[in-house]
Amino acid sequence: MNHPDSTDSATARLRQLTEYHREHPVTSAEGHSYISSAPRGTITSPPLPFNVRVLEHIDRTVAEVITTTREANPDPGPIPDDNADIYRWCVEATANAPEAVQQRRDTLEYRHRLEHALAAGDTTVIRRHRCPDCQAPGLFWRNNISKAMCVNRHCARRTSDGRHRTFSLAELAHEYVQGRKNLRQVRAT
Ligand SMILES: [Zn+2]
Repeated sequence: MNHPDSTDSATARLRQLTEYHREHPVTSAEGHSYISSAPRGTITSPPLPFNVRVLEHIDRTVAEVITTTREANPDPGPIPDDNADIYRWCVEATANAPEAVQQRRDTLEYRHRLEHALAAGDTTVIRRHRCPDCQAPGLFWRNNISKAMCVNRHCARRTSDGRHRTFSLAELAHEYVQGRKNLRQVRAT
């Protein structure tokens, strides 16, 4: 997982989320305002309800890394105390795994990088992607369906029902990691 920009990695994003959570702990009922009784559609809190939801997000993603690591290596060594070290731990434990396993691991890590960014309310990470189908730049994040959408009309016209194409984070991560691998192979030849 050699990220040219180490400030934007799953580790860095997870660390940001964890730190933000530490600085903004749930201190009152307002911390749960996202489950307020206000009618739907009324904005009563910032778009990102931190606190409980972020904690759940962190727990879920860390658990996923641990499960994936153990599937690849039954004896991966002790789980790090600091959540943000979980990706380094995973890479070290799978360093000698078959290439397909390492690629799956990289795809998971990249998907988490996107998930952590979105959990922090940063949708620009999605905009940086091109549509996997038509290659148009600037996918849009659709929060209501938790998918990225291509707004290119020519692309939508090619679908059977004329709808805009949408992509899951797993699909974007697969595209990204596969593309990086292809690039490496082109450079190596
Ligand atoms: Zn498209």
